[in-house]
Amino acid sequence: MIKGQCLCGTVRYEYNDVIEKSIVCFCRDCQQAQGAFGGWNSPIDQKKFRILSGEQSLTEYFHTKLKARVFCNKCGSPIYSYRKDLLNIIRLRLGTITKGDVPKPRDLAYLQDKPDFLCIE
Ligand SMILES: [Zn+2]
Ligand SMILES: [Zn+2]
Repeated sequence: MIKGQCLCGTVRYEYNDVIEKSIVCFCRDCQQAQGAFGGWNSPIDQKKFRILSGEQSLTEYFHTKLKARVFCNKCGSPIYSYRKDLLNIIRLRLGTITKGDVPKPRDLAYLQDKPDFLCIE
């Protein structure tokens, strides 16, 4: 069981399974969306994911037609994203997890956009 929340604690969720893989994405969209060097995400089964509180504080932003980025509109924490053409999978923002294990990233996407100060073996 995985549990997590946004920075202000309004949005709380649980995921009734384990996180199987984690991905770090350095693309410019992720950098701007997270305000950081990239995004840290995992594709998870939407049916096993449940918002426990704060559903009314979730706002969806469509930067592209099909992909929604869902965030807490009180504190701005990104929680997950999903694609309209792939509704059974959501991409959880792993920095919001407060309980449960997160595997070390197996995939690094858009390495060409990675800031030089980050050294990865
Ligand atoms: Zn919040
Ligand atoms: Zn990205």
